[in-house]
Amino acid sequence: MRFIETRGNDGAKPASVAFSEAILSPSASFGGLYVPESLPSLDTDFLQGHLQSHYKELAYDFLNKFGIDIEDEVIQAALARYDSFDDPQSPVPLSQIEEDCFVSELYHGPTRAFKDMALQPFGYILSKLAQKRGENYLIMAATSGDTGPATLETFKNQEGVKVACLYPDGGTSDVQRLQMVTEDAPNLKVIGVKGNFDDTQNTLKDLLASEDFKTELAAREIRLSAANSVNFGRIIFQVIYHIHSYLELVRKGEITMGEKIYLVVPSGNFGNALGAYYAKKAGLPVEKILISSNINNILTDWITKGEYDLTSRELVQTESPAMDILKSSNIERIMYDKFGAARTKVLMEALSTEGKFVLTEEELASLREDFDASFADDQTCENVIGEYAKKGYIMDPHTATCMGAYRNLRQKPLKTVVYSTAEWTKFSPAVAKALGYHASGDIDALKWVESHADVSVPPMIRELFNKPVVHKTVVPKEKIKEEMLNFL
Ligand SMILES: *Cc1c(COP(=O)(O)O)cnc(C)c1O
Repeated sequence: MRFIETRGNDGAKPASVAFSEAILSPSASFGGLYVPESLPSLDTDFLQGHLQSHYKELAYDFLNKFGIDIEDEVIQAALARYDSFDDPQSPVPLSQIEEDCFVSELYHGPTRAFKDMALQPFGYILSKLAQKRGENYLIMAATSGDTGPATLETFKNQEGVKVACLYPDGGTSDVQRLQMVTEDAPNLKVIGVKGNFDDTQNTLKDLLASEDFKTELAAREIRLSAANSVNFGRIIFQVIYHIHSYLELVRKGEITMGEKIYLVVPSGNFGNALGAYYAKKAGLPVEKILISSNINNILTDWITKGEYDLTSRELVQTESPAMDILKSSNIERIMYDKFGAARTKVLMEALSTEGKFVLTEEELASLREDFDASFADDQTCENVIGEYAKKGYIMDPHTATCMGAYRNLRQKPLKTVVYSTAEWTKFSPAVAKALGYHASGDIDALKWVESHADVSVPPMIRELFNKPVVHKTVVPKEKIKEEMLNFL
């Protein structure tokens, strides 16, 4: 399988690349992204053939069909990372919460957020590629929450890759900060930045753009890669759990093979939703993908009105911070798929120069063939969490944004899968509040919820509070470059 570019080719980069190249150097011509030239078919034979398969077997076969240029042994070892999930036999369990509604829990990995689903195997593959080529890569991440911990966790002690992670000091939850600053390995660096998430992200962008930083990296023979969902190496693993969730419904006798279902995806950078779109396009029987957002509902406007307008918005901090995003990176891959490279280039350039774009009526209609969207504010999510807690199911605020879409957007009485992207333990003060308790911090909230609901705090979260803090650096943004160079 070859990978091509969403904004066309500039003549300097190759017109198409192999999977390994697309994931080591994920930026394509004109600031675009890599996408597969075609998709493997998920026909009934494929699905039927995997009714008895373990998650890893399904994943292995899917990657094989994709034809990626990664050695068999490496793929097998990458997928073995799922063995560290709560139940190695069932890394992605499905819980029924309504007669026709099932929650697919994507958070049973080491950092308790769905980022592990892709970053765990992806991290292994990327570092093996670096080792094989005898190259050294630097991955830099600015994080407000879940990406940082999951990126550090997957690359720790892996040769050939160094990770530097910047977080806004005071801008993450206790659990998220501890997940980063207690992660002890010589190839990891975590730096707190004095400022908010925007400051942190801008500092990173400035650093990546600065010529003298590039010169310093070149002098040390260090190449830059990326571990966010602009990297197709993450997206490929995010197709698989949609297939798995469908098969689980068939296995449970809830649907017959071929019957359509709805998927509800809580979205930010649209990687999870893109995975669902590729699965649907490849043949998975999906009626529609319903996108949920918080009050930063720019994706709702895009899907319901065809407008993507950054100029009229400011980012609002919510209880579902992993979805506090306005510039959603993977909508570009959807637009490429539907409207082609030339049009995508025009739209994305309008977004960066004018801060907005508007789709034509035909384009909007095409988008709405696959998607619909709605959003929920914090109060609505709090009510949803409280309501399901009474019925015995605890969900996190990101998952809670989905329930409005489930209730209001379905036009047919089909079975529905809602994706749960984080365990409640990552956002415990919000969950405690929804259950009626104002906690003084994460520890207080974790203990209170554990003793008032039928859930327990897993060991990796419990242990965080006793682990030594190894990354103590908190600096003003002017000092970041110096810290980085010291680390390298
Ligand atoms: C990253 C994340 C999301 C958003 O996923 P995208 O693929 O970026 O749309 C939603 N919920 C949680 C908890 C996350 O960590």
